[in-house]
This record gives sequence, structure tokens and C-alpha cells, in this order.
Amino acid sequence: MAYEVLARKWRPQQFDDVVGQGHVTQTLKNAITSNRVAHAYLFVGPRGVGKTSTARILAKAINCEKGPTPEPCGKCAACLEIAAGNCLDVLEIDAASNTGVDNVRDLRENARYAPARCPFKVYIIDEVHMLSVQAFNALLKTLEEPPAHVKFIFATTEPQKVPATILSRCQRFDLRRISTRDIVERLTEIAKTEKVNVDPDALLAIARGAEGGLRDAESALDQLIAFRGKTIREEDVLAVFGLVARQTLDELMEAVLKGDVATAVRRVGDLDRNGKDLQRLVFELLEQARHIVICQYTGADPVGLELTEAQVESIRRQAALCDPGRVLRVVDILTEVESRIRYALSRRALLETALIRSGRATTSVTLDELLARLNQLKAGLGQSSKEPSGRKSSPASKESPAAAPGRVREAAGAQDEVALLAESWLDIVERVSHSAPLAKAYLLDAKPVDVEGARVVVSFDPEFAGNKEKIEYSRNLKVINKVMSEILNREVAVEFRVLDAKATVPGDIKVKNMTSPETAPASESATEKPKGRSRSTQDWVKNPTVKKALELFNGDIVDVRE
Ligand SMILES: [Zn+2]
Repeated sequence: MAYEVLARKWRPQQFDDVVGQGHVTQTLKNAITSNRVAHAYLFVGPRGVGKTSTARILAKAINCEKGPTPEPCGKCAACLEIAAGNCLDVLEIDAASNTGVDNVRDLRENARYAPARCPFKVYIIDEVHMLSVQAFNALLKTLEEPPAHVKFIFATTEPQKVPATILSRCQRFDLRRISTRDIVERLTEIAKTEKVNVDPDALLAIARGAEGGLRDAESALDQLIAFRGKTIREEDVLAVFGLVARQTLDELMEAVLKGDVATAVRRVGDLDRNGKDLQRLVFELLEQARHIVICQYTGADPVGLELTEAQVESIRRQAALCDPGRVLRVVDILTEVESRIRYALSRRALLETALIRSGRATTSVTLDELLARLNQLKAGLGQSSKEPSGRKSSPASKESPAAAPGRVREAAGAQDEVALLAESWLDIVERVSHSAPLAKAYLLDAKPVDVEGARVVVSFDPEFAGNKEKIEYSRNLKVINKVMSEILNREVAVEFRVLDAKATVPGDIKVKNMTSPETAPASESATEKPKGRSRSTQDWVKNPTVKKALELFNGDIVDVRE
């Protein structure tokens, strides 16, 4: 049997086989079932995501001898001919090579005759935006009064070049780029069936190189099999695409986040000497940084970002290395570089300076942090002068300057510890999940909000109140305590709380709700303490209204008066 390229061999034959376009295929299936197939469709999307494959399946679905059916049989003459591309009633036209008005006139002439065998004549016009203006005008006449037996399916990568008069007469479907994860899954399936041994990092590299186009990924796998035989490693793929190894990418990102500029610059030098595509590298670093920020700010499970498990793992790890504000600066810097690198005389020099700036951005203090520290100091000082019987127990506060007054040091110490825990939260959750895997899902919705002596308060928003019960098992608590004690370098114990749902409108009573012992959970009343300013500031920051105001003004809480 003649060799068949993978992309053709694996071309989807059913709507359900089309990868990553469920929103389109489901709608088409419904249209067929309810007998509401439009007379003209426009499939929009980047190359290799399944536009013409979907068009052919649609042609089969309406022309199948058992049809119209959302699941064409694949066995009747019509199905077989359409799949093989030699059905007389399904015509595929590549507009890129048939741009002229004459081609469209022929089509119009042909469309008038009844189909040879099938119920419908289907015209699949690929790259329809390439048609000339006259050709579009000629086409419009047919679209305005289409014969009942004719269906048009247009496909294009550039819908903005299709005249509005045509667009308005089509049902438009946008096909998406296919996620890295979906491509890797599909390639894994192909490799298994084809009995090719491809390591997971190699599959990921193929998917990265294909940039969301499944056909490109399949062709690349084909080439690699021809080039390497039955065993394919990551380095084989990297050589084909000029890509940087995933591990190198991770190391480079980690160096930037840790502010290790020397390592970052040295790596770029190595990559440049090895002929890697630096423009591509910037793009990938930027993507990585974006995912980290999204993961940090939204607390979103990076799995939702449509990445593979390996990628998710490194993003979680890197998210714990640096605070979100700083990663955001790195995103800014890389975005700027991405727009300039194409025209740069020395890509290497541009990238090196960008990484140096990024490295500095991740280690220098942000304005927000400076303000926060000033406020902490101010709050601590005010507290010590007004409330001499301040907080009693706060054993270790290792980082504060020895010269500062005791109470300031304690308040600042607790704040620092909360910040440290918040920063390392994903890391903590990850470490806890090694010994208590079920705790992970619940902990991701929680956040550390306060440190009171040896007690770390971790809160859930009211909508996650249910998580509190689910996590409070001694086994979980033990693990969590252990991990947090390691992070803080002293013995601490966790206490879970649910934030007060009523405390959404500012008001004196609400403030008291959160701080006064009578209304607080029973366990809290044991360690009665005065209304420490740092405490109520912390609470206020979480209040949705206050939070919004802080965001609007890019501000900070300086003082809370009751
Ligand atoms: Zn059939």
C-alpha cells in the first residue's frame, strides 16, 4: 500500500474527531439534526486547525445515503467519494489559484444544474479572501438567490478581506488555535498507533513549534519519523524548529525571576551560538511569564490555561519564586522587546539588555512595597504610643532591625510573615499535596491573612465556606503546620476561618465584627488582643468595596479610624 502522510491518514472523518473545535462541530450537528442547514457557511481560523476537514464532514453529513445525519456512515458511495476527494457533487476550489471572475462564472453555470447523484451540490472554496473583486461580485449573485440544491462552504484565514456583502450572507464560525495540550494528546495517540517512540518533551516541542496548527504538528511528526525513524527525542525536534529546550527555557525564566542576571546572560550567549531563534525565544519567555502572572493573580489552576502537565508544574514552581507585581514588570519588558526584536540589528544584545532589566525588576523594591513598608512602620509606631499593652506573644521576629522599638518589630514581623506565606502559597499547597493530595484543591481557594503569635490564620471567602470543614482533619492540619513551620522557620499552627460575608459594606460595626472577641469564633477569644492596626488594615484590604477603591486609586490603606 502506498505511503500516506499522517495529516491525511489522520484527517478527521466525523465531527467528533475534529480536535479542539467542539463549539463549531456541536452547532453544525444540531443544525443537521434539526434540519436547519444554512446555504452558505464561512469557516474562519488560522491554518491547519480543521477548516476544510470540517467542511468535508459537513458535505458528507448532508449527502450521506443514510443522511442527512450528524454522523455520516463513512461507508456509502457518497461518503467514500467525498473522503477521497472525487465526488462529482462536492467541489473543492482553491481560491488562491482560481482568483478570476471566469472561474466564478463557470461555478455559477455549473451550480444551476442538479447534482449528479447526491442530494446537494457542495462548493468548498478555500482561502476565499483571495478572490478578485469581480469574482466576489459574480459570486454574490449566486449567494443572493441560491438554487435549493446548492450549499457553499467558504474557508479563510483572513476574514477582514472578505467583502461585507458576502459575510452577511454566510453563517460564520470561528475555529480556534488548538491548545498545546490537545495537540500533544493527539500526537500521543498517533505515535502510539504508528508504533513510534516519541518522548513527551519531544511531543511538547512539536506542539510548541506548530503554534496551534494541528496539521503542521502532524506534518512535523511525519518529517521527524522520516528523519529519525522510530525513536524521536526532544533534541531532534528542537533542531528542526530552532526551538530552545523546555528545560533551558525554564532555567532561563528561573534565573530571571531570581534576579540571577549573570546566568541569564550566559544562557542567551550559548543559545545564540547554537543558532537558536531568539525572536521565538522572546515569544516563548513572554508566554511563560504571562502564564505565571495569570496563575498568581487569579489563583487559577494553570491547567485551565490549556498547557500540558509538565508545563503546569514549572509554572507553579516559578509562580512561587517572585511576587506578581514584579513578574508583571517582566511581562512589560518582554512585550516591548517582542515588538522590537524583529527589526533589531543585534537580537542578542537586545535580549541581553532586556533580561538584565527583567532581572533587576524582579529584585528591586516596587513603589507599592515601599509605601506598604512605610505604612507598616507608621501603623506600628502609632500603636506603640497609644496602646502600651500591645500584642503579648510573638516569639521570633528574625528579620526586623534590632534598633527598632519592640512592638514595631513584632507588627512588622507578623506582616512580613503573612507576606512570605502569601508569596509562597502555591509552593506551600504543592508541598502539602505531596503528603495530603486531597487537601490541594481546597487550599488553592484559601489564603493566609494573619499571623498571631504561633497561630497562622488562613481564610476562605464565604463561597468556599464548605472547604473549611473538608480540610480540617488532623492529618491535613499536621502536614500544613509542618510545611508552614518550615517556611517561617519556627513552630506555627494553622487556624482556618471563613471571611465574614456581611462585612462587604464599610461601617464601624462591621469593623468590630472582624476584630472584637465576642463575635469572633470561639477559638479566637482565648488570645484577646487590642485592635491592632495591622490586623484591621489586613481585614479592610479584603473588603470588596475597599479593595475596589484601592485598585481604582492604586492606593494603600494608611489608617483605619473607628
Ligand atoms: Zn454515508
